[in-house]
Amino acid sequence: MLVDSHCHLDFPGLAEDLPSLLNAMQENRVGWALCAGVTLERFPAMLDIVRSDSRLFAAVGVHPDTEEPAREADIETLLTLADDPKVVAIGETGLDYYRLQGDLEWQRERFRTHIRAAKQCGKPLIIHTRASASDTLRVLKEEGGDSVGGVFHCFTEDREIARQALDLGFYISFSGIVTFKNAVELKAVAQSIPLDRMLVETDAPYLAPVPFRGKTNQPAYVLHVAEEIAKLRELPIETVAKATTENFFRLFDRATP
Ligand SMILES: [Zn+2]
Ligand SMILES: [Zn+2]
Repeated sequence: MLVDSHCHLDFPGLAEDLPSLLNAMQENRVGWALCAGVTLERFPAMLDIVRSDSRLFAAVGVHPDTEEPAREADIETLLTLADDPKVVAIGETGLDYYRLQGDLEWQRERFRTHIRAAKQCGKPLIIHTRASASDTLRVLKEEGGDSVGGVFHCFTEDREIARQALDLGFYISFSGIVTFKNAVELKAVAQSIPLDRMLVETDAPYLAPVPFRGKTNQPAYVLHVAEEIAKLRELPIETVAKATTENFFRLFDRATP
């Protein structure tokens, strides 16, 4: 069985279709999925979805792209919302210098707040980094994020950044991007990192893997991400499924159900 370690089942296009998405998971040997938080405003509705099915987990956080007038995260709020058996992580959090430019000190402050909350509650971090890898690693180090660990989700960086993330004790999660023909460097990362530090995800509804590229993504499609990694590493799909699922439950500190 596989785990989709990062998706957004509460987003329009998915939330309306929950029963069929859960059925498709079953049919594609996807046993569990983790829904990442993006805003505090949407968190209660997302948690309702997650609570409705034993296969779903949640993370709480404010995405680095979330701008005013959305609520800012403070440590107290994150800790209160994280104090729930369904909430297994803090995130998604991190830095994104691709979509937003200018003085992004507020992003780094928000990221620091999430790292501090994660350290206080002992739940790992789900890291989003885009066009900002060196600052992401720097802030993580400055805040002692290695003491709580987590995952670099939807990894699109090179082998050197992967090595630095692994050195900090973080896991690396691959999305459908690894199935894209032109993702040559990313395929090399997927071949080279230790199997016991790797997760798979969809980031649904975005980034559908080949052969669904351009369509609405869903957790069931994580099978195609795992198949691509199995092909790249010349391993049976079962080996990749077993490793990434064990990694997920080890990272999020849960016994495999
Ligand atoms: Zn993200
Ligand atoms: Zn996401």
